[in-house]
Amino acid sequence: MADYDAIVIGAGLGGLTTASLLSKNGFKTLVLEQSDIIGGCCSTYESQGYRFDVGASIVEILHPMERFFELMGKRREDYIELLPCDPIYSFITEDGRRFSYPTDVDETTKVIESIAPEDVEGWKKFASLGFEMIDRMMDAMMLSPMKTVPEAMRMVIKNPEAMRFLPLLMRTHQAVTRKYYRNPVIQSSVAFQSYFAGAPPEIGSGIFGFIALTEHLGIYYPRGGMISIPEGLARAGEEHGLEVRTGRKVEKILLDGRKARGVLLEDGSEITSDIVVSNVNAKVAYLKMVGPENLPRWAVKAISSYRHSMPCPMIYVGLDTKPDLEAHHTVVTGSIEAMNKVWNDYYTKDLIPSTAMSLICWPTEADPSLAPEGHHILNFLCNAPAPYAPLGDNWDRIKGWYREEAIKSLERVVLPGIRDHITYMEVSTPLDFERRLLSPQGSIYGLFSDMTSLALFRPHARSRVVDGLYLTGSSTHLGGGVPTTIASGIITSGYILKDRG
Ligand SMILES: Cc1cc2nc3c(=O)[nH]c(=O)nc-3n(C[C@H](O)[C@H](O)[C@H](O)COP(=O)(O)OP(=O)(O)OC[C@H]3O[C@@H](n4cnc5c(N)ncnc54)[C@H](O)[C@@H]3O)c2cc1C
Repeated sequence: MADYDAIVIGAGLGGLTTASLLSKNGFKTLVLEQSDIIGGCCSTYESQGYRFDVGASIVEILHPMERFFELMGKRREDYIELLPCDPIYSFITEDGRRFSYPTDVDETTKVIESIAPEDVEGWKKFASLGFEMIDRMMDAMMLSPMKTVPEAMRMVIKNPEAMRFLPLLMRTHQAVTRKYYRNPVIQSSVAFQSYFAGAPPEIGSGIFGFIALTEHLGIYYPRGGMISIPEGLARAGEEHGLEVRTGRKVEKILLDGRKARGVLLEDGSEITSDIVVSNVNAKVAYLKMVGPENLPRWAVKAISSYRHSMPCPMIYVGLDTKPDLEAHHTVVTGSIEAMNKVWNDYYTKDLIPSTAMSLICWPTEADPSLAPEGHHILNFLCNAPAPYAPLGDNWDRIKGWYREEAIKSLERVVLPGIRDHITYMEVSTPLDFERRLLSPQGSIYGLFSDMTSLALFRPHARSRVVDGLYLTGSSTHLGGGVPTTIASGIITSGYILKDRG
């Protein structure tokens, strides 16, 4: 008799979603998390009276989260309080111009008109097509299993209108942007999504253009910090008996031939279960936890061929003053060419880019309770993407230099003299991120996503080589993101319930 019906490795969003849904369906389920806190990339840590978000800074596309609570038979509002953030983004361009996009579509039209009247028509066409797609395809695109060609075909047959939108999604983000907009300032304000998601506009999928559009349906910050999302998911499961243990690192997935039979922990203890769900990086799950010696050669070759997503230094800052910003998110943008150049001429050559492009999040704008009274927080995604191993150097050695560069950058874009107001500052380099979440090479979105590694081309949610092993989270379909990893948890639990329910 196994100890549990299901064991989930990792308490990220995908892992907790899967685990809670299994508990609700009567499975005795255990989540094992190596860190002292749950949530992984979507968590929040406390230091000196501040609450800093480790990674994710916002949630958009609420659909998967609402669907999760619906499946749990509960109301989202009773578990997670979401604060709307408006404007969606504020921009600082290369020449220092500032403008913001509000949630309201008509108000956004006025902003575009004031900068580039020639692009108003393109924006209207794009918005009309995009909202129609979101309306008709959201469920199908986000919650359909996409493991095999027949599954993908089934999605298209059930949703024939997908054929109308597919050609756009198959193009690059850059191509979609240039199809609808001519002005370089507008182009850069809609092309940064793929860039900060780990693929420059010339490689990233056109779907990023539509993700930007979904933000006009609302973007939200959870009261209490991003960790309130995984805490809400876990609490909903715990009411059905879910057990979550933190500070427990899994070393190995135990096998009986090619069948999962449990896990081996770092402390040498074994916990048994016929179902093991991995919420960790898929390359780690297969190549370290299962082990290449237990896999067919083709599977080792296939999983080895995936690349990790980009790493990026994160900077957490506490201030004793209000920053001169207009929105929850400020994007310091560059042109599409500059974004592609950073990727081609720096990142792929292991060089740290010398660019101002960055994403500054100001969470105390939405929730002042995250900092002591009168204080503020900035979480700052700086110099994305940055190499894991800078040529001829090491992040531990250059951390001091990097900290100084980050302060100079904040002085340029946020507030001259800001250094005198910094009461707390932590630089989390790709090496620190790897140590914190055991994320290989400091990758922040699991496996790299471009048009060749999406949907059925990503590691499958139900393992094809180990019976009883399932994958969830950013390494599997639909890739990194808060809504996408919650959606992946819904899909993975669906497979398990179908197989064993
Ligand atoms: C800097 C940054 C900014 C982001 N911004 C946004 C944003 O604004 N909006 C958005 O939608 N998304 C954003 N994302 C993406 C989003 O946060 C992630 O894609 C999502 O949270 C990942 O969820 P996951 O299910 O893949 O699990 P992960 O978060 O990857 O969690 C995996 C868990 O497994 C644990 N683990 C690892 N190894 C072991 C082991 N051996 N034993 C036990 N446990 C283990 C880890 O500690 C971790 O808790 C951001 C991510 C980062 C890093």
